[in-house]
Amino acid sequence: MPEGRDAERHAPVVLSVVIPMFNEEDVLPALVTRLRPVLTELGVPHEVVAVDDGSGDRTAELLDAFRLGWPELRVVALRRNSGHQAALTAGLDRARGAYVVSLDADLQDPPEKIPDMLALARAEGLDIVYGVRADRSSDSGFKRWTAGVYYRLMRRLAGPSVPAQAGDFRLLSRAAVEALKALPDQQRVYRLLVPWLGFPSGQVTYERAPRTAGRTKYPLGRMIRLAVDSVTGFSAAPLRIATWLGAGAFVVCLGLLVYTLTAFALGRTVPGWTSLFTGIVFIGAVQLVCVGLLGEYVGRIYTAVQNRPTYFVRHDTAATVPVPGPAP
Ligand code: UDP
Ligand code: MG
Repeated sequence: MPEGRDAERHAPVVLSVVIPMFNEEDVLPALVTRLRPVLTELGVPHEVVAVDDGSGDRTAELLDAFRLGWPELRVVALRRNSGHQAALTAGLDRARGAYVVSLDADLQDPPEKIPDMLALARAEGLDIVYGVRADRSSDSGFKRWTAGVYYRLMRRLAGPSVPAQAGDFRLLSRAAVEALKALPDQQRVYRLLVPWLGFPSGQVTYERAPRTAGRTKYPLGRMIRLAVDSVTGFSAAPLRIATWLGAGAFVVCLGLLVYTLTAFALGRTVPGWTSLFTGIVFIGAVQLVCVGLLGEYVGRIYTAVQNRPTYFVRHDTAATVPVPGPAP
């Protein structure tokens, strides 16, 4: 390798941009077209860590092609699809910058806001700068409604430090990244973990654009999964729901008992089938819901105890470059 290039590659990186990608071949060219000039203009040593989350399309191929003409692009390819948050973990584990920005590949988060985030962090000495969605009119009504419910619930469970409408477009300082890396959590929901760290933070607002191309990689099932991981990761309150449901059912039972016994004492019998059936079904439902809730927490313990890696790296194009600071 020529010496000049080598020296450049060892230069401390000021800014890393981590981008998880899953089947994003349609947006990749547009992403490069918009992101690259922003970073060049910024004029600080930077790197782009593209995490290919086990894409089945031509994402990996395209990334390799872009890498030829873009030395700052680093490709971390995961062996299989591990999910958005795990892909983000892989990127954060490998980013070397003094500041790390995470960005969605689909250009819903504008790369043009990255300089603002960096400037704010540097000017005010902040460790975290959230990208906050000021306008979501480009999202579907359903997405907006579910997001509204989600952020309200999360602020109640995880505390008001969770900014509403802040997704995974944010800037982290090296200290914040190291704090995240030190956490043992396996099912990570970064939008809750990051505020929970308690670093000084600021916000940059932006308008959420529609997806540039391709389809959402968050269908309803994955949205529900994220919500369940968010709740179970931050609160044991649902476990108490079982107690309240049980107590409620007990009170209802008591009332019914008094009613039937009074009727019996008055020489009447209460006609049985319907009420009996309703009672059985009701108690059955309450029990199943409670067992399910319990199961979610037991599942988390199970994953934590197994302690398996949340992702496997197939290849990392910059793995040979010595990493300054603590080893990942
Ligand atoms: N993504 C990923 N792995 C997945 C699903 C999504 O890396 O299993 C990436 C995706 O490529 C995108 C980001 O996560 O860069 C956010 O996904 P998407 O835009 O589909 O979510 P939405 O904006 O619809 O919530
Ligand atoms: Mg998106």
